[in-house]
Amino acid sequence: SPLKKRFPSYPGLDRFELLDLLGTGAFSNVYRASDRENKNAKVAVKVLRKFEMNEQQKGNVKKEIEIMRQLKHPNVSELIDCIETHQYCHIIMKLSSGGELFNQLVKLTYLSEDLARHVIRQVAEAVLYLHQTLGVVHRFVSVQCHPDYRTIWTKANCDCRDIKPENILFESIPMKPSKTPKPTLPGEEDKLDEGDFIPGVGGGGIGTVTLGDFGLSKVIAGVPTATPCGTMSYAAPEIVRDEKYTTGVDMWAIGCVLYTLLAGYPPFYDPDTKVLMKKVSKGQYTFDSPWWNDISNDAKDIVSRLLTVNTEERLNIEEFLAHPWITQPGKTEKSKE
Ligand code: ADP
Ligand code: MG
Repeated sequence: SPLKKRFPSYPGLDRFELLDLLGTGAFSNVYRASDRENKNAKVAVKVLRKFEMNEQQKGNVKKEIEIMRQLKHPNVSELIDCIETHQYCHIIMKLSSGGELFNQLVKLTYLSEDLARHVIRQVAEAVLYLHQTLGVVHRFVSVQCHPDYRTIWTKANCDCRDIKPENILFESIPMKPSKTPKPTLPGEEDKLDEGDFIPGVGGGGIGTVTLGDFGLSKVIAGVPTATPCGTMSYAAPEIVRDEKYTTGVDMWAIGCVLYTLLAGYPPFYDPDTKVLMKKVSKGQYTFDSPWWNDISNDAKDIVSRLLTVNTEERLNIEEFLAHPWITQPGKTEKSKE
């Protein structure tokens, strides 16, 4: 459209021209913006509305920024700057222009094993980095959610700060191959093809995958006690004491994401939250036919070793990265050679 979109002119943000709304959070809008003082370089600006927060929530924003300041890893969202005004807090971040994995998953329905590996390995590298360098800080973030409640994947339900398709971002937007356009069914014009994602095949490629969202704002964002996050307070003490348990939480989340990427639907689901929690706490999920028929045994093995209720037996990050399904060379790697 030739009409320029109008966004509010936030105090303190004159340096940046807001271009698009990328996403929204509990107390925030995230914009693609250009930096007038740096050759119009494109950045992401998270505009946090402090005036909607209570003191605890404001404190969480401070923590989010403190956490982000310490992070420097290719697979982790990078903080560029932070501008604070009386009413707002603007977090300037490196832009992940490919958007959310969630949206790409919706377009593709599910991913091939090669593409799922390409994504999940980078998520795991981010988690390994967070575990190793920020053990304490990250633990604080992680313990906000009991692993039993981390698997509600619908946008509406999952308010827990965690590793989920919405918080996994792509560097670049997958492009349709320029040659041999496939016939599309009405309403499916937007559907993408795996080739659109794999570097060198479709000409697009998803590039680097980054893990974002270190905010606690969402966790504390006034979720009523009946929802999973509210129930957290019951389980927290043991989790806080046990370091291993904490890192295991992220491995469980990786297992859920990987299951979802391969199957196109989450491992645990029930419209009744109570039933859902029961399923999760018992680890009741299945590799349903026909969706899992063509998925390799190695893939099923790694998923089942992640979705293991016993934290002692659950794969840790090093074991995960050394698993045959992860270490085998996939199509993506071959095409790069
Ligand atoms: P919240 O903590 O409230 O969930 P997030 O930090 O996850 O907020 O941001 C909300 C949404 O904004 C994300 O799900 C994503 O769509 C988008 N977003 C956040 N950071 C970036 C970024 N650096 N590049 C591109 N999009 C982003
Ligand atoms: Mg988020």
